[in-house]
Amino acid sequence: MSLPDSRKIRLILDLRSNGVIDPDVLASMENLPRELFVPETFRDKAYDDVTLPIGHQQTISRPTTVGLMTQALQLNTRLKVLEIGTGSGYQAAVLAPLCRRLYTVERIGDLFRSAVAKFDELGFSNITAIQGDGSLGWPEQAPFDRIIITAAAEDMPGAVLDQLAIGGVMVVPVGFQEGGQRLWRVTRTEDGEEVEDLGPTHFVPLRQDG
Ligand code: SAH
Repeated sequence: MSLPDSRKIRLILDLRSNGVIDPDVLASMENLPRELFVPETFRDKAYDDVTLPIGHQQTISRPTTVGLMTQALQLNTRLKVLEIGTGSGYQAAVLAPLCRRLYTVERIGDLFRSAVAKFDELGFSNITAIQGDGSLGWPEQAPFDRIIITAAAEDMPGAVLDQLAIGGVMVVPVGFQEGGQRLWRVTRTEDGEEVEDLGPTHFVPLRQDG
């Protein structure tokens, strides 16, 4: 067994013990070479359950966080999904095999270009990526069945929520205070939304460029 394989197996065990139990989510993460999404200097840590820097003061999320957020979305291959904050592209590459089409938006050009190169290298054909400000969602492509925001919003992002289909689910870290963020699962209903608090989390802020 090669070194990355044994590290990967250990990571999958860690994910399970941290509550990532959906077999499809685990399979998607097991199939993906995470080292591809991590800067070369940190490659030896690609299968550690840690957050790593990806440049531009941004980070690739900890695998447990990626797993728990993906699981919370309750995906299937009929669904159209929006991700705000492509970053390294790792979360997008975990999501893509589990949904029909993934739309992902990143504001930083370098990160956007490098993520798109990874999607091409891995042969993904159901990811549509753009560079831009996603703080107001992607109105031209709405509605979405699922939305995942991988940067922390100050409060409930109302404009993005409006782009969720009725019955749809959005997973979003909310709160700007250091140590004070919570991960929310928001379900859009006929007459509003239901919010479920999934616990503490830690993300870089969602910028408001617009
Ligand atoms: N999902 C990423 C982690 C993202 S880190 C991964 O798997 O690696 C958060 C990302 O959100 C950063 O790349 C940051 O540039 C981006 N971001 C922050 N505000 C944004 C905005 N308004 N629109 C689009 N992207 C944004």
